[in-house]
Amino acid sequence: MERYRYVILGGGMVAGYAAKVFAERGAGGQVAIVSAEATLPYERPPLSKGFLAGQEDEAGILINDAAFYRDHGIRVLLNTPVRAVDLETRRLIPVVGEPIGFEQLLIATGAQPRRLDLPGAERAEVFYLRSVDDARRIRAAYQQARRAVVLGSGFIGMEVSAVLQSQGLATTMLFPDERVWQRLFTPELSRFFEDYYRARGVTILSGSRATAFHGTERLELVQLADGRELPAELVVAGIGVAPATALFDGSALHIENGILVNEYLETNLPDVYAAGDVANYQDALFGTRRRVEHWDNAVSQGQHAARRMLGERTPFVHVPYFFSDEFDLSWEFWGDTSLADAAVQRGDPQAKSLSVWWLKERRLVAAFVLNRPEEEREFAQQAIREQREVDPAVLRDAARPLSP
Ligand code: NAP
Repeated sequence: MERYRYVILGGGMVAGYAAKVFAERGAGGQVAIVSAEATLPYERPPLSKGFLAGQEDEAGILINDAAFYRDHGIRVLLNTPVRAVDLETRRLIPVVGEPIGFEQLLIATGAQPRRLDLPGAERAEVFYLRSVDDARRIRAAYQQARRAVVLGSGFIGMEVSAVLQSQGLATTMLFPDERVWQRLFTPELSRFFEDYYRARGVTILSGSRATAFHGTERLELVQLADGRELPAELVVAGIGVAPATALFDGSALHIENGILVNEYLETNLPDVYAAGDVANYQDALFGTRRRVEHWDNAVSQGQHAARRMLGERTPFVHVPYFFSDEFDLSWEFWGDTSLADAAVQRGDPQAKSLSVWWLKERRLVAAFVLNRPEEEREFAQQAIREQREVDPAVLRDAARPLSP
């Protein structure tokens, strides 16, 4: 049995960025990454943006190229799904082949798309988007399609709809909520995005649900709960994800909406860590538990966990950060809107230049920034980190500067 000092379970973004830290510290020769995928760790954001649009290829999205792993002695075991983890004897048991031993384990299994449980959902033209293979399949499918239905109005729903419409498909976004990004955004911000999408030809059907997918040989119709039928040759469902913890069901690990870790990314078991989408961590900044499904979290926690495994024990203190691109819009977001009791808008939506600031008892807890001066970005990061008290009148008045 091969045994490694450091094993990373899951070959996604956490693995790619943790590997950089192990390599920088000269510890690459003691690391193995165990991945079910056929591709070296890659950046996931392009899968619903440039890669999906055909502007980037696989080599262009790798976090590190093959030479990096080779040169630093990092073993990457691709096509190696794991069927069990023995936390007592410290071994991963792959579906095929010998067990893989570890001294320290970083669990980076990520999340899995929620799937539709509807008649016809098993059709080949109903897609989910998580991996580079999924993105490749959707890319091939939309070249043969004229009309698409996208289910969900979260990150995938918004980004994929924009790509499909830009690729010339008549695209309909369908979701049960009243407005897009309802969980995250103010009604004004949702309206801004809906207007933007409609102006570019996307049909938005809020308060709607799909109930079935029909067609003789190929997909032809999406059936809606209100009886309507939408013609479509392609469906992409972006209806959220669930943390991938099944390997640890019944184990001694504490699991609750992901694998519970403390502010050091340590699980309840010694030498076992978790990072990225799967990790429900203690957020030292906001004093709450959270699980963040975003690129930045995977990058920062991957790096932090590697440093922790190498012996540095400092808390992970980080303002949650998201970014997204749709059509020619590129926006950023920091913090947590669920904590807020007020929101203030600044700038001019007509000019595609606006920011929104969320406050809790006048303290800044979240910010959305689209096409604003650099100092607003800096202010957002710093002031949310400090949960600084800010006068809403100053935030609202774009003529008054926000000093970081
Ligand atoms: P998401 O952002 O959590 O959004 C899922 C959306 O689907 C929510 O609006 C949800 O509504 C809605 N929904 C739930 N059940 C539905 C149903 N049966 N029919 C239609 N809509 C339904 O998840 P996602 O868009 O699927 O993205 C998957 C993961 O990829 C997430 O972790 C996301 O963060 C990540 N991702 C991130 C980015 C980015 O950060 N730029 C880009 C792409 C993907 P409720 O809120 O009411 O449940």
